[in-house]
Amino acid sequence: MLVANRGEIAIRVMRTCKELGIATVAVYSEADRSALHVRTADQAIFVGPPPSRESYLVQQRILDAAKQAGADAIHPGYGFLSENASFVRACDAAGLTFIGPPASAMDSMGEKTRARANMIKAGVPVVPGTTEPVASVEEARAYVEKIGLPVMLKAAGGGGGKGMRKVERMEDFESSWRSAKSAALNAFGNDAVYIEKYLEKPHHVEIQVFADQYGNTIHLNERECSAQRRHQKVVEETPSPILSPELRAKMGEVAVKAAKAVNYVGAGTVEFLVDVHRNFYFLEMNTRLQVEHPVTEWVTGLDLVAMQIRAAEGEKLGLTEAPRPNGHSIEVRVYAEDPSRNFMPSPGKITYLRVPGGPNVRDDSGVFPGYTVPNVYDPMISKLSVWAPTRREAIARTQRALSEYVVKGITTNIRYLRAILANPEFIEGDYDTSFLTRQHDALL
Ligand code: ADP
Repeated sequence: MLVANRGEIAIRVMRTCKELGIATVAVYSEADRSALHVRTADQAIFVGPPPSRESYLVQQRILDAAKQAGADAIHPGYGFLSENASFVRACDAAGLTFIGPPASAMDSMGEKTRARANMIKAGVPVVPGTTEPVASVEEARAYVEKIGLPVMLKAAGGGGGKGMRKVERMEDFESSWRSAKSAALNAFGNDAVYIEKYLEKPHHVEIQVFADQYGNTIHLNERECSAQRRHQKVVEETPSPILSPELRAKMGEVAVKAAKAVNYVGAGTVEFLVDVHRNFYFLEMNTRLQVEHPVTEWVTGLDLVAMQIRAAEGEKLGLTEAPRPNGHSIEVRVYAEDPSRNFMPSPGKITYLRVPGGPNVRDDSGVFPGYTVPNVYDPMISKLSVWAPTRREAIARTQRALSEYVVKGITTNIRYLRAILANPEFIEGDYDTSFLTRQHDALL
């Protein structure tokens, strides 16, 4: 198995491969010569200079590395080439098994506007808005006058919370439109922008789905991901504190319908926004393993990477329905960043590291003492996740584990994470996507 990624997720995938008796191949850039994923793999192949555009994102380099190593399969992790349909086709053409959905399913879900159109066709409720990129600012203005403010302008090719602009006042519309378009072009090389109604104080609740090659498709319950900063998740948990068993079943059923509509195979995530009346709307589908998959593994007892590999080998799905969630799990994302300096990344050398342990604590990390966190990649250094019988105990366990975490040499967001877990709104459980922004000052 060649793992076309770096950091914690590359190591996460390799761990399961080892347990399955599958030899692993790492790829690495100039900035990652001494990285932990390189040391974890059985074999490692150099793929280019530090910028990912010149290494991890160069399809031919990855394919050549696979050929050189004699790999049969490629696991893309998340990010990089994981949702790139042309890469999937290139793997197919080279006789390599891509661990993920077929290119056609990625095509159907890749562009947000196309995904929305496909979901409407399948009878899945979507966030109200346009199903096509909007051609001109005049057309956009006319549409907004019809559906009313506030709206969200979004990049059709978007991801990672980028290229999104909320518009509250008509006098700001034109400048927001221009800024959304240039952000979209900058981040995704495509300036197509569409319009969604802005939902007030929604929850982000996503459903993990899984399908084998024969159309057997199930959901594996939800993850609550409303603790977000700049539209990016910081803390995730399952079960969601706001979901009744009835709503879980309903959302699960719709997520399965969404996956079936695009002939999905493997692990995927259907993201929804849930409004104050507990109506839910399709937001997008991520056609890959998600960063926050460990919380699902904790409460279901499943190994999602092993399931991905088995599905790719053509094994039939053993489960026929969602396992009942057992207990509670929380994940926090540990970043090399400085919350007191506007969350500026703080790369540098880790001079001392103590990683939390103890019962039901998992640390998916990509670093070690003496390692220098490079400044060219995402600054997430680890994901700490815990399991406990109840949510209250899971919060206490996360706090206990975070109190054990010692990282010296670089600044991290650990204190900020502890403040989130101690915040009364988080403890109470009904926190929406505006939570971290509203509590910004109290959490610093
Ligand atoms: P990305 O693909 O960039 O992550 P998403 O479409 O998944 O973007 O949205 C990310 C987050 O942005 C959501 O979880 C939510 O907090 C916020 N968001 C997106 N669309 C809307 C909307 N129409 N109304 C309110 N919030 C939204």
